[in-house]
Amino acid sequence: MFEYPEFATLTRQMNDTLQGKRIRSGQLGNSPHKFVWYNRSHDEFERLTKGKTVGEARAKGKWLFVPLNPGYVLLLGECGGKVLYHPPDSQVPKKYHLAITFEDDTFLTATTQMWGAMELYERGEEQERQYVKGMRTTPAEPEFTFEYLCTLIDDPATGEKRTAKGLLTQDQLIPGLGNAIAQDILFRARLSPKFPVADLSPDQARALHRAIVDTVREVTEKGGRYDEVDLYGQRGGYERMMDKNAVGRPCPECGGEVKKIQYLGGSCYFCPSCQV
Ligand SMILES: [Zn+2]
Repeated sequence: MFEYPEFATLTRQMNDTLQGKRIRSGQLGNSPHKFVWYNRSHDEFERLTKGKTVGEARAKGKWLFVPLNPGYVLLLGECGGKVLYHPPDSQVPKKYHLAITFEDDTFLTATTQMWGAMELYERGEEQERQYVKGMRTTPAEPEFTFEYLCTLIDDPATGEKRTAKGLLTQDQLIPGLGNAIAQDILFRARLSPKFPVADLSPDQARALHRAIVDTVREVTEKGGRYDEVDLYGQRGGYERMMDKNAVGRPCPECGGEVKKIQYLGGSCYFCPSCQV
């Protein structure tokens, strides 16, 4: 699944490659998939996208906003899989959940892996969507300061009884993070996934803040994670330190064995010696 750095990478590439292109035809999927969230019928989507021009895309959390001017915004969110740009005369993927052909014969397809939103809104309405409306501060924004993280930790509604992994991955408390990037954040902060947030010392909280901001920035600068592909079908440049390939191998810090546990709806990879 994409996390913020993958959406940010797609955004940057869309702005290089798609901005200013005019749509000849927009189509929803050719492959039924009950976990794709659409808000338009096939006919509506085709009618409303025809003749529109791609504006400047932006990403926030796990959402990608693509203005289709005048008047509309395409919203892709909470998805994984492939969002691909195709030069003229490329082969159309067999299965897709969205395909947009431009007047210069280039096209864009999106195929989600598990679930995800592919929705079209009148401009402004997208801000009212569940999970977009009221989204908390994200680590890519300057407002995500150490003091801000402390308010999340200290607030009984968000911090109390939560563990470090829970703080990073549950309830959209820190939008844009997911189970993949959370592993490396916890390793860098030297915290076990089950460490109780209420017990963080000021130094540990500061290390966690630094790990969140630095990891998000580094993965974004490297074009996303190695196990995801970008708009051009190229793998991202960020190789995770703590993932399934690390299990049973020496920890990069202490040489101890990296372990795997199942916890909070996903696998955790961590070093029991380094991460308290
Ligand atoms: Zn270690």
